[in-house]
Amino acid sequence: MSELLILSAITDHMRSRIEAAFDATVLADVDQDAWLAQHGADVRFILTGGHLGVPADIFARLPNAEIISSNGVGYDGVDTDAANARGVPVCHTPNVLNQEVATTALMLYIAAQRNFEAEMANARSGNWEKSGNLPLARSADQRKIGILGLGRIGKAIAAKLAPFDPTIVYYGRSRQDVPFPYYDDLVAMARDCDALICVAPGGAATHHLIDRAVMDALGPEGVLVNVGRGSVVDEVALISALQEGRLGSAALDVFAAEPHIPEALRALPNVILTPHIGSATVETRHAMGDLAIDNLIAWKNGQPLISPVPESAGLL
Ligand code: NAP
Repeated sequence: MSELLILSAITDHMRSRIEAAFDATVLADVDQDAWLAQHGADVRFILTGGHLGVPADIFARLPNAEIISSNGVGYDGVDTDAANARGVPVCHTPNVLNQEVATTALMLYIAAQRNFEAEMANARSGNWEKSGNLPLARSADQRKIGILGLGRIGKAIAAKLAPFDPTIVYYGRSRQDVPFPYYDDLVAMARDCDALICVAPGGAATHHLIDRAVMDALGPEGVLVNVGRGSVVDEVALISALQEGRLGSAALDVFAAEPHIPEALRALPNVILTPHIGSATVETRHAMGDLAIDNLIAWKNGQPLISPVPESAGLL
């Protein structure tokens, strides 16, 4: 008997909260096939992550699943159509990570703009003493910065950039009631900007939205920051744009086939790379884990879900 099946990694804090509230099993801790055959029908609640989702072969073996709680705001790995077809609502963890991901975007933006990784390497390697300073970087202040995906996190990024006195503009599917100019054409926005910060969700609708045309429009001094999803950027086009100097630099927290980062990308001097750490602090992962579990507890107690995804609205 196990009412909660855990597919994703959990913190110690989450484990102790889960143990207090549920009879739970971590799928990675058991013989998956044998366990699903014996206990799959007992599972009512599923805890997973937004990348992993619930693989179709596993979901099929959980015929009595009632709810999927995804620990993360992005849920492009969760097949919401399949969940809807079975009447299973999905919830995620919006808002509690806005500030952390915005800080990550800010770090990446400043690091790329000021050539921080190469500067640190010049100091650490002793090359400064031998060969002197690197060419001057460009200031992070008073830049025109385009945001692709001015949602919860995008707005937090705009707010955190304010002390740098930027001109913020944005692109999305719709104009919003915000004090920033709107572009309905991403290439046109990139052409006008010094930097493009992507914090758009993944999925078919945003796949390769940042393509060669957008990169060429940003240009040889342009900076591309991606904290959204790797799938939004055409990674092959990005590598050649950076190799050929058609794009100035890129600072990336997310990649097309994580945790793989193409060797050609890792070899480039004009990229900053972080391993999907947008929300990865003790405090924020604590808050995300709490929200993911609070949704499950609410459901178990017959209370309304705290943060269902929009696609589940028809089920609630
Ligand atoms: P949100 O509030 O839903 O904002 C998403 C924004 O993207 C909206 O402004 C939306 O504007 C825009 N958008 C959506 N679909 C689009 C499309 N097809 N074309 C153009 N723009 C589109 O979401 P959020 O909470 O800010 O999170 C955004 C994403 O950040 C998540 O989905 C996740 O992928 C990523 N994320 C990454 C990390 C990390 O660790 N790096 C952490 C958290 C989140 P319109 O509706 O007007 O188009």
